Amino acid sequence: MMIRFWKKRIKTGMLTEHPEFDVEMAEIRQQIKDEVKKRFAGSLAIRMVDSGSCNACEAECNALSNPYYDLERLGIHFVASPRHADVMLLSGVLTFNMYHHVMDAWKQIPEPKWIVTLGDCPAMQTPFQTTFAIKGPAAEHLPVAHHISGCPPSPERIIRGFLEFLRKV
Ligand code: SF4
Repeated sequence: MMIRFWKKRIKTGMLTEHPEFDVEMAEIRQQIKDEVKKRFAGSLAIRMVDSGSCNACEAECNALSNPYYDLERLGIHFVASPRHADVMLLSGVLTFNMYHHVMDAWKQIPEPKWIVTLGDCPAMQTPFQTTFAIKGPAAEHLPVAHHISGCPPSPERIIRGFLEFLRKV
């Protein structure tokens, strides 16, 4: 039994390790660190606002804090108050009920400020239909600086999206 296991193990190799991806991600991480240093004096604060999401986008964002992506070490921090933020990261379909809270949070972010939308929901590209309960797409109500697509976007997609945003501003 054990011999069969080890034969299979050696033949299959390690599925959890991607050396090429690791090298690419290390380069992206370094580029983000450099851009944050250049454009935001080494510290970029993000306030995440859920305007009616299924929480999968938030779950993927949580992975950015793990030791592999470790966003904090690149100078990007998630903050609890819009008053401490540079960027609003908006997820969800912008429901009627959340609309005023989103606008209120946006007003409280000090200038200069930017909004980045996360996932297909804020762009109304999800299976959800336009109903009285949804005020999306978010870009019709807010000056969206950058959009990160996906349903949900993977941590890799999000981190690449942050780099694209940093290069735009
Ligand atoms: S984009 Fe997809 S994963 Fe993200 S909140 Fe909408 S439905 Fe959920």
